Amino acid sequence: MGRSSGGFRRRARADRPKSQIGSVCNVSSEGHVVTYVVTENCIKCKYMDCVEVCPVDCFYAGENMLVIHPEECIDCGVCEPECPAEAIKPDTEPGLEKWATLNREYAAKWPNITTRDTPPADAKEWDGVPGKLSHFSPVSHDEAAPAKMAECASEVVK
Ligand code: SF4
Ligand code: SF4
Repeated sequence: MGRSSGGFRRRARADRPKSQIGSVCNVSSEGHVVTYVVTENCIKCKYMDCVEVCPVDCFYAGENMLVIHPEECIDCGVCEPECPAEAIKPDTEPGLEKWATLNREYAAKWPNITTRDTPPADAKEWDGVPGKLSHFSPVSHDEAAPAKMAECASEVVK
């Protein structure tokens, strides 16, 4: 299995300990599988404090946001208070359906992240800005990194 720099890696679900798959602790009394989801305020903030505390490494990284894999999250809740942007919520909160869908879709497309990387320089300026969904990037962290490096190199050349 390959691991690239900055704590990013591609991971097969089979890598997870069997004891963590389908854990009974993430089933609500109604039988609904509870998970945590990353919501709008992560976009362009992406502080990444959350990845350091997740016991099952279930965060996945896009260019300007992280998402949680709903079938890997064991609903421990440890990441929720760690997020400086207060972007992590239990999916039992009303109105989070579109974020649950987005987390599920992009957790299947983006690389796994296990260690904190450098947050965007302007993260604080974006914290709390409404309507950030329009700034969401579907590009994965892997794809964005070479483009950013080329951009920096051209700035240096100028
Ligand atoms: S700590 Fe919060 S803002 Fe930062 S990457 Fe995690 S969910 Fe996003
Ligand atoms: S609730 Fe627990 S398992 Fe789920 S993403 Fe947060 S730290 Fe990881």
